[in-house]
Amino acid sequence: MIILVFGKPGSGKGSVAEVFSERSSFKHVSTGNIFRKEIAEKTELGLLADSYIKGGNLVPDEITNSIVENYLKANGKEDLLLDGYPRTIPQAIFLDEAVKRHNLKIMGVFDLECEDSLVIERLSSRRVCSECGAIYNTRNHNPKIPGVCDECHSPVIQRKDDSVESITNRLKVYERDTEPLINYYKERKLLYKVDGRADSDVVFEEITGILAKCN
Ligand code: AMP
Repeated sequence: MIILVFGKPGSGKGSVAEVFSERSSFKHVSTGNIFRKEIAEKTELGLLADSYIKGGNLVPDEITNSIVENYLKANGKEDLLLDGYPRTIPQAIFLDEAVKRHNLKIMGVFDLECEDSLVIERLSSRRVCSECGAIYNTRNHNPKIPGVCDECHSPVIQRKDDSVESITNRLKVYERDTEPLINYYKERKLLYKVDGRADSDVVFEEITGILAKCN
């Protein structure tokens, strides 16, 4: 079974996905995390992806799609939560075809609604573990030891693309390339709107409640 969490950068997709991986059978699949791992390991893919990501632009569809295809081939039998994919109409079409090819099903697309001012506040205060990707923020969720991840004790950093300049571009890219997916999934009767302003635990409960009715 596949579900998608969808929304602006900073709408809380990654935080909700973390709750899902702790409290449900759904595995968190984040194309952003996959790219960041490749960047940290300085692979060829990582170097290429980095040039797009640091300015807040999207990595080209062919590259992103082939990563997802390989992932579905290897893990398609598990319950998967896709976070940050698809982000363009061609990616959504590719995913539909891949889902058919691997005999899978998209159960729902959950759009975490959130206003720009909150998104900007969340992204500029966000800090992440450089190793495991655990999410913190300087407003109300700091690691117990400053700068050190509670989970894996690696350094906690600010993402390069969480600079004000990059955030502004990411919001523009979202509006231009990603927002049209709302209608794409609405037409397929898969779209559910949820309140992205709420805490991730509350969003998790809301989504699992909707999923229970879908089954
Ligand atoms: P995220 O962690 O989901 O915010 O993604 C961080 C960055 O990785 C994005 O701003 C893009 O540059 C890149 N990225 C992640 N997912 C995708 C995708 N589905 N298509 C293209 N680029 C992506």
